[in-house]
Amino acid sequence: MSFTLAIVGRPNVGKSTLFNRLVGRKLALVDDQPGVTRDLREGPAKLGPLRFTVIDTAGLEVATDESLQGRMRRLTERAVDMADVCLFMIDARAGVLPADEIFADILRKRAKHVILAANKAEGRAGQGGLIEAYSLGLGEPLGLSAEHGEGMSELLAMLQPLA
Ligand code: GDP
Ligand code: MG
Repeated sequence: MSFTLAIVGRPNVGKSTLFNRLVGRKLALVDDQPGVTRDLREGPAKLGPLRFTVIDTAGLEVATDESLQGRMRRLTERAVDMADVCLFMIDARAGVLPADEIFADILRKRAKHVILAANKAEGRAGQGGLIEAYSLGLGEPLGLSAEHGEGMSELLAMLQPLA
């Protein structure tokens, strides 16, 4: 039995970077400019011995008539409902922003299982954000660096019981 992991969180926290690392191909576009990926992207993930399906909630930044907040909520709810476990990503360098609270709220109400991850945690710049993440009330945050591959064995340890 395998499982599906959805990576959710506001634009620019590093969701697609983690998705690419897990899938090992450039299925999701990553760019310094938000807005290059669209809607939900699904791929086969590999982490140590684990094989699972990963969903990247992209498309949050595409300009439409819908507000960004409405779009974030709609796409995130779709991804959450498809997933067995959600990786809720915040930016450890930015700390907890009001938009992050919206996601925390959706996840608390809707997700079966949440892993809170503070990305961009490499070096010292992420220390404050990692501590702030406790205030979201979703348990102990996992410090990650999707770009540099830090925190992957800790992520594996958290996912292993679900496999
Ligand atoms: P998304 O909008 O949440 O999908 O975010 P992206 O994956 O597109 O990444 C947004 C920006 O953050 C890009 O410039 C990435 O290179 C950068 N980024 C992603 N992960 C890390 C990380 O672990 N550390 C740092 N410093 N930057 C990162
Ligand atoms: Mg993206």
